[in-house]
Amino acid sequence: MSEEKVENVVVFGSGPAGLTAALYAARANLEPLVYEGVEPGGQLMTTTEVENFPGHEDGIMGPDLMDVMKKQVARFGTRFILDECTSVDLSQWPFRYTVSQGSGLAKTIIIATGATARYLGLPNELRLRGHGVSACATCDGFFFRGMEIALVGGGDSAAEEASFLTRFASKVHLLVRRDKLRASRIMQQRVLSNEKISVHWNTELADVLGQNEVEGIRVRDNQTGVETDWTQIKGLFLAIGHKPNSDPFVGQLDHDELGYLLTAADSTATNVPGVFACGDVQDKTFRQAITAAGTGCMSALEAERWLEARGEH
Ligand SMILES: Cc1cc2nc3c(=O)[nH]c(=O)nc-3n(C[C@H](O)[C@H](O)[C@H](O)COP(=O)(O)OP(=O)(O)OC[C@H]3O[C@@H](n4cnc5c(N)ncnc54)[C@H](O)[C@@H]3O)c2cc1C
Repeated sequence: MSEEKVENVVVFGSGPAGLTAALYAARANLEPLVYEGVEPGGQLMTTTEVENFPGHEDGIMGPDLMDVMKKQVARFGTRFILDECTSVDLSQWPFRYTVSQGSGLAKTIIIATGATARYLGLPNELRLRGHGVSACATCDGFFFRGMEIALVGGGDSAAEEASFLTRFASKVHLLVRRDKLRASRIMQQRVLSNEKISVHWNTELADVLGQNEVEGIRVRDNQTGVETDWTQIKGLFLAIGHKPNSDPFVGQLDHDELGYLLTAADSTATNVPGVFACGDVQDKTFRQAITAAGTGCMSALEAERWLEARGEH
């Protein structure tokens, strides 16, 4: 009977974090194996223009950036499989992992499964993602210079993003489902004292108007049920949270109360030696392609050093 192959490095995820990890691991002759997951290329596949990834003077479309990143990684012999991790057994080494189509063994695992921004789920909201609807104020605020925009949410992120968006928008309409904000007192004060922010209490998004881009929104007063169209709104932002894609790992790796994987300071090492986590699955603060790529690089370098220290590389 032939012995089961043990991979040096298995990467779960093919967003900026996973692909950068694979790039470094491949150039270190570790022949990484990447499981791409159900969203090959990750979150940037859902957006249009990316203007803040260094090296692209005129900006680049999100899917084009991920395409060129993948080609660069493939050049050094990385293997890609279109499948996703369903569970891992980290109590044994080499580690055992299971994907939908089977299972395998790995000496090191890099988890780069990202996070999923929450949307309300309205058909037109989802259809116009990247065309005026965004879940990333840092990424897309710049495109709405001098325009009126709306932001949905009532927590700290919503308050912070509303303030941030006033740098660009002429007016930010904050739609709050309840009659108060969940945000901390200091953030509330900042929002309520900002003349460019109008807070609309007990107000919910009912629909997004427009064929190819946002041409307005329909809002509902949840006390009276009355719906109104606001056609002056040209951009819609959602700040209702993110869900880290950490389900297959949470039983075995330390995580916070939201499911973000915990890593050591100045490192991407998890609490299990030989398992590393990078990108949005462990970062709820920055959530940018460049920071995801940066931590992906760290994971690969740490995996290489870990293998070397054990005489495995
Ligand atoms: C609308 C939008 C616009 C954005 N615009 C910008 C921008 O302009 N600039 C910027 O810097 N950032 C932007 N971001 C943020 C950026 O996309 C993320 O910070 C970045 O993609 C995170 O990279 P990641 O590799 O950690 O995860 P992701 O990009 O989320 O990729 C996760 C990967 O993991 C895979 N996966 C998930 N579960 C599993 C599993 N169980 N097994 C195997 N694989 C799995 C998925 O298929 C996917 O390939 C934007 C985000 C959104 C939502």
